[in-house]
Amino acid sequence: MNPAAYEPLQHRARTKIVATIGPACRAPDMLARLVGSGVDVFRINMAHGTPQEHNSTISDIREISKDAQRPIGILVDLAGPKIRLGQLTEEPLECRAGDTFRFVRGTQSHEPHDLTSTYEPLVDELDVDDRVLLADGTVAMIVVRKERNEVYCQVTGPGELRSRQGINLPGVKLSVEAMSDVDRENAEWAARSGIDFISLSFVRSPVEVRQLKALVAEANSRAMVISKIEKPEALDNLDEIVQASDGIMVARGDLGVEIDVAEMPVQQKRIIDTCIKYKRPVIVATQMLDSMERSSRPTRAEVTDVANAIIDGADACMLSGETAIGKFPRESVEMMNRIMLSSEKLAERNWKLEDLDFEYEGVHPTSSAVVYHAGQLAKNVDAKVVMVATRSGATALAKSKHRDFIPTIAVSDSEETLRRMTLYWGIGPVAGAPSQANEDLTGFIDAWGRHHGYLVPGDKVVVVTGTGLLAGAHNLIMVHEVR
Ligand code: PEP
Repeated sequence: MNPAAYEPLQHRARTKIVATIGPACRAPDMLARLVGSGVDVFRINMAHGTPQEHNSTISDIREISKDAQRPIGILVDLAGPKIRLGQLTEEPLECRAGDTFRFVRGTQSHEPHDLTSTYEPLVDELDVDDRVLLADGTVAMIVVRKERNEVYCQVTGPGELRSRQGINLPGVKLSVEAMSDVDRENAEWAARSGIDFISLSFVRSPVEVRQLKALVAEANSRAMVISKIEKPEALDNLDEIVQASDGIMVARGDLGVEIDVAEMPVQQKRIIDTCIKYKRPVIVATQMLDSMERSSRPTRAEVTDVANAIIDGADACMLSGETAIGKFPRESVEMMNRIMLSSEKLAERNWKLEDLDFEYEGVHPTSSAVVYHAGQLAKNVDAKVVMVATRSGATALAKSKHRDFIPTIAVSDSEETLRRMTLYWGIGPVAGAPSQANEDLTGFIDAWGRHHGYLVPGDKVVVVTGTGLLAGAHNLIMVHEVR
């Protein structure tokens, strides 16, 4: 049996699973197994790996998706202005409480207590009393003295450092650009390679999001731009950033270092609420099943974390080290899918009609009202599934954000649209449907349902499509009985 083949509606969670590619899962048979276990979108982290590796991963994923007849999304994650340590003279470098270290210019230290960074103007932009967090916040320092070419820091949180580990400077206003030349090259490559989602790290303002969108549009790509929220400045400009973006990632790895980690759960909920308000898909990322990097079972706290993200309204949850470098990549995906299946019923929203607004970007208000009522009708007539025919995917996003619990399949004549819907909660993108006549659509759903053992004669399906009489709108709901 094809390991990537998977019945889309019986066993699949409505919440989407994003899995990060790395040495633990890059082999094509493991990628196929992860697809079979429930991965909807693979993330390529541009901070790691070579261009050759990325190109061959993309073609492997496309091949697996074709064989399994299942759209699979690909997200390219741009490193953005991540600042890293330069080369140290000794590894690991022990930092004891009270020790003094000195940031100097360049990228190669010559003395054990000298530190360098990948960010040229660091020495100019640090000031006395600024906090410097290193290695994911495991080492903390404070700036105690500044001279023209060096900045002295004292260790306040002891630990060990290695070359090229990350540096976070919470509250320090840096002049660093949102996208480096390498980020721009990578974004152009992603757009040319038909990538579905491009995420930008360390976003601080909506201007940066619009810059990336312009670059993507110039390359004739429809890739959705996902902003990673991981800086205090992004939290200050949250509404504007969410509105400017096609989707959001709660990047808890860096966010938990840039702000007080105790504040993070509240901020996570605020980010999700803002995405609900502006109807953008939101991915919750990092350390979701962290212990499964090393253990075949997650902790109770991790399981509860995933469940709470779903209940709060996350559209997708992301696995990072668990699939990239962990010992149990397949088990991590299976576990995530199981947690989702058992908790997402609580994510259903029973809207009062007066609380709903049908304003969705790129969607005729008639269409978003029609898909909402299609979901209600499906409940009333006990339909097994709602089917939405969509060209751009925007109507499917409206259906997704209404958060009813009726399984929904979305068909489209655009492969790009099918792939972008891999991130939409509760939407199962299905390829191969006829693009025009309503008669053909019902024949297609009958054949599809029978093939997957999902529908039997007499089952009801609510089909949402358009008569063509109202330009650009879905204005037809049909209750179809499977023959
Ligand atoms: C994060 O910081 O949580 C994140 C997803 O980004 P990265 O993996 O690039 O650190």
